[in-house]
Amino acid sequence: MGTLVAVVLLWVTPFIVALHIGERKGREGVAFALGFCLGWLGVLIIALTTPTDAARRTHALRNGFACPFCQEPVRTGATVCPHCQRDLPGDVR
Ligand SMILES: [Zn+2]
Repeated sequence: MGTLVAVVLLWVTPFIVALHIGERKGREGVAFALGFCLGWLGVLIIALTTPTDAARRTHALRNGFACPFCQEPVRTGATVCPHCQRDLPGDVR
């Protein structure tokens, strides 16, 4: 019984946590390998990686909208696009 608890705590749990973090950062493959091979150390490493551009864009679009001029993600309520510096019309904000 003690062995099962140890396996869950030291291997299964960090593996799931690593996958969860990796999914949010768009790095599922790396997270899978790190969580599987390194356990909690893998979780730490994946937590320190930066998200991919695609994951960052998906996150930004979830919390805002795409600029009508350059299609980059912009936060809701922004009046100027941070990417192309153009004024955003009121109807897209
Ligand atoms: Zn723009």
